[in-house]
Amino acid sequence: MVEKVGECVTCKKIIYCTDGFLNGVVKNSEVYCFTCAEKSDQNRHCSSY
Ligand SMILES: [Zn+2]
Repeated sequence: MVEKVGECVTCKKIIYCTDGFLNGVVKNSEVYCFTCAEKSDQNRHCSSY
C-alpha cells in the first residue's frame, strides 16, 4: 500500500508512505524528505503525523 503524504516543503519532492513506512519526515504538520530533514530529528513512522 502506497499513500501520498505530501511534498517536501523545502524541495517539493513528493513524500509517500509505503507499507507503514514514511519516506520522509513530518514535523509540525510539515513534510520533509530525508535529505532536507537530515539536521532534524527523524520520525519515520506514519503514525507520527
Ligand atoms: Zn526535500
